[in-house]
Amino acid sequence: MSSIVLFGPPGAGKGTQAERIMVATGLPQVSTGDMLRAAVKAGTETGMVAKGFMESGQLVPDAVIIDLIKDRILEPDAANGVMFDGFPRTIPQAEALAGITSVTHVIAIEVPDERIVERICGRYSCAGCGSVYHDTFNPVASGGCNCGQWQEKRRADDNETTVNSRLGAYHEQTSPLADWYRSKGIFHAVNGDRAIDEITGDILVALNQ
Ligand code: AMP
Repeated sequence: MSSIVLFGPPGAGKGTQAERIMVATGLPQVSTGDMLRAAVKAGTETGMVAKGFMESGQLVPDAVIIDLIKDRILEPDAANGVMFDGFPRTIPQAEALAGITSVTHVIAIEVPDERIVERICGRYSCAGCGSVYHDTFNPVASGGCNCGQWQEKRRADDNETTVNSRLGAYHEQTSPLADWYRSKGIFHAVNGDRAIDEITGDILVALNQ
């Protein structure tokens, strides 16, 4: 089993690209953010622990995240590897991951901080199918998403106050991982401040290297 990691700050476009890369590679997307939001909504023990950290833009403790991943990776659809989105976010998470599955590519989607706030504050998704849109850069068609179950959803933590904490957590705790993975020769950076299709093209090229 070998997996890939989509890496980058909040709002870099990891979720948007994950949908496309999933189609191209067949690897299922494993988003710890999505898993945690589902746990909060379901009121599970994990969700109750995670809620406060998420609302304040802090990282959820490593032990909680690693347990989630250990369970997820045992599911049948993960047998041939997965595409991680938003995981790992700390060195201890990356070390734990190395003991769970081999990672062949870490794709870093790079976007400058000043672009992140406008991206996050305008984003929304379809509750029916999970497709991600943006008020300015990628608006949904009039009449809604073509999945047939269009319902607009905005994340509670996609606001200007929380974005700054999330960016702080990214720079302090997550960005050191870039060097960690670079030293292993599996790190590929793509410029994420461009059209969605161009970024997808670069990711697909990187995945073939
Ligand atoms: P995301 O959807 O990836 O932006 O994650 C939303 C929030 O969930 C983050 O701001 C964190 O509070 C939490 N979270 C998601 N993934 C992780 C992770 N790998 N480690 C710690 N916290 C996480």
